[in-house]
Amino acid sequence: MQIPPEAFKDNGDKMKIILLGPQGSGKGTQAKLISKKFNIPHISTGDIFRKNIKEETELGKEVTSYLNSGKLVPDELTNKLVESRIKEDDCKNGFILDGFPRNIKQAEFLNSVTDIDYAVDVEIPDEEVVFRLEGRRNCSNKGCGAIYNLNTSPKPKENNTCDKCSSDLFQRDDDKPEAIKKRLEIYHEQTSPLIDYYDKKGILIIIDGSRSIEEVSQDIFLALK
Ligand code: AMP
Repeated sequence: MQIPPEAFKDNGDKMKIILLGPQGSGKGTQAKLISKKFNIPHISTGDIFRKNIKEETELGKEVTSYLNSGKLVPDELTNKLVESRIKEDDCKNGFILDGFPRNIKQAEFLNSVTDIDYAVDVEIPDEEVVFRLEGRRNCSNKGCGAIYNLNTSPKPKENNTCDKCSSDLFQRDDDKPEAIKKRLEIYHEQTSPLIDYYDKKGILIIIDGSRSIEEVSQDIFLALK
């Protein structure tokens, strides 16, 4: 009988994680909790792009139109960014990738540069995605950055005003109905085939994301043990 190479992996090594699931599934929140519990960095490609846009870097200028319309940034650019990030020192005991890979090409690229131990798929229905994303409001004061949700929580005391600093709240362009629709289409066409891809590799964990943050994280922690 042939023993698969995975069987020789030390359990302690097994902390290279990717998170799948549509936008609004709460995977960003879960990624932060996993990062804290296992002391591995949380790498969100969306956050990296947004930070660059805010700081008006060259990369930021290059990706603004993609993010505003809900389209994917070209693979080559995104792949290079992730490759150099996961080579950094803080990733030697693992990492949690949130928002990457987004299609089979990115997954194959990732596979060519490192071994992933777990693919956690946080699932929620499309109607719930729309409900959660449409309600999201951000504080317009860059120094504050508070995030609210008119449909879920935390709800601001007044619809358009930040509780913390009284600045106006705004809706991100990619949380507007047209962009949400586009993002969901892309998710179903390009990202959801990854569920099968990682299932075939035997590392897929499916989690019901339509419950409370605590219930979802408990399930994830149990599955990652
Ligand atoms: P997110 O915060 O993960 O929803 O990402 C926000 C936006 O950043 C996406 O709608 C894309 O425009 C871009 N983006 C994030 N991750 C990727 C990726 N892996 N490949 C291409 N574009 C991405």
